[in-house]
Amino acid sequence: MLAIHEWSFKDRKGVAGFTILELLAVFAILAIIVALAAPRFVAVIEESKIKACDNNVEMIRKAAEMYYEVKGEWPQEQDLVDENYIERYIYCPLSNTESEEYAYDIDENGKVTCRNAANHSREPGV
Ligand SMILES: [Zn+2]
Repeated sequence: MLAIHEWSFKDRKGVAGFTILELLAVFAILAIIVALAAPRFVAVIEESKIKACDNNVEMIRKAAEMYYEVKGEWPQEQDLVDENYIERYIYCPLSNTESEEYAYDIDENGKVTCRNAANHSREPGV
């Protein structure tokens, strides 16, 4: 059986490369770095999607106000699309699906809310 020192780089004559132990050490260090960084990346991605949702709320609110000025009543998101106040139906970016259950509601006071707000780590628009 080989002793640990016989596996090391310097003892092998004329063979360039790394030993299994050296490669394992490198992969272990890389795995630790990825494990430390991954939750941070996930949090940053989620925060950017919530900010995109904030922007959707603001854009729909402005379109709804213009609609209200003309029609005298608050629209639903579909009315804004039908009347070309917005180009197309807009969905919460956090949902990753284009389904009406993740669209936006406009209440009788013109307040715009995200239907997917329960899945946000913070309230949109704050
Ligand atoms: Zn949302």
